[in-house]
Amino acid sequence: MPSLPSLDKNVNLAPHVVLLGAGASIAAYLHWGRKGPCLPSMQDLIEVLSLRSVIEDAGYETAGLNFEAFYDDLSSSGKNDDLRVLIESRVYEFFSSLTLPDVPTIYDYLVLSLREKDIIATFNWDPFLLQAYMRNEVVTKDRRPRITFLHGNVKVAVCTNCEVAGVNGRRCSRCGTSMEPSKLLYPVKRKNYNDDPFIKTEWDVLRQKLNRAYFLTIFGYSAPVTDVEARSLMLEVWKENKALEFAEVEVVDIRSRKELESTWRDFFFSHHYMTAKDVFRSYLFTHPRRSCDAFASASLMCEPWHDNRFPHFKTLKELQEWVVPLIAEEELYDKERKSFTGNPLAPNEKTVL
Ligand SMILES: [Zn+2]
Repeated sequence: MPSLPSLDKNVNLAPHVVLLGAGASIAAYLHWGRKGPCLPSMQDLIEVLSLRSVIEDAGYETAGLNFEAFYDDLSSSGKNDDLRVLIESRVYEFFSSLTLPDVPTIYDYLVLSLREKDIIATFNWDPFLLQAYMRNEVVTKDRRPRITFLHGNVKVAVCTNCEVAGVNGRRCSRCGTSMEPSKLLYPVKRKNYNDDPFIKTEWDVLRQKLNRAYFLTIFGYSAPVTDVEARSLMLEVWKENKALEFAEVEVVDIRSRKELESTWRDFFFSHHYMTAKDVFRSYLFTHPRRSCDAFASASLMCEPWHDNRFPHFKTLKELQEWVVPLIAEEELYDKERKSFTGNPLAPNEKTVL
């Protein structure tokens, strides 16, 4: 039985799930003006991490080498573990060295665009999401989405005794011992998401949210063939979502609409999807912190709201100040059950649309 999402006092408490792939970090990097180190694709890693001579010295031909297939073979055959470990440590060091610039980045907008009922799940190893999450805590406090790392992350460490995850370099919040860096899960064909307890928990959290989500935004994630398993793990729970026929999928990606339709068709219910090439034109950034509420009002109540698009800010402080009234409204709803304003269009405005 499908279950109708509710809208009480203009509030919808179903989760918004945001899924991030490499394209999100590349978009963030281009948006902040290409300062700092370039973000390599898996194929570019050979040059960026100066791996060519290392691979040749180990007796492999590198002309026209497909790095992803090469790594997959190295890892699954177990033929040259020294080389595999060396490659992995170079990758780890490189991604650990990346930092966000001081200006507001797409990652800052992203963590501020969602509430504590929502989730951002990322396939990326880079530290940008967690860095943005931490530096915006001054304004969000606990009113921020859950974040999960589906392939591990250089900024995350785990205490295996307590099964606690935290920021790499800090001590375990429970037992006080130093934590181990989380493993990075490589894009190989045969991945087992259940092998590592930390990764398994991250997937469980995502799957629970997807199963109840009302909005799914897929940002810069191309669902590569090496991620067949990831795709089926998500699709399985998404298809069981009781609100699926009311839910919306949004794909933010520079590829053509036709390509995106063919990649994500399985996730769409009928025509309930939208695409955007620029995240600032996405529904998520058009109704920051109110995406599910605004969408429920428009689609279930036929009461569309005025857009409340994120402006482009010069400083992080300006961006943080802009979300303060929205957070204050959320606090009032929690304390006094006071309605969200919502700002619906007037009847004469609706006809203009
Ligand atoms: Zn511990």
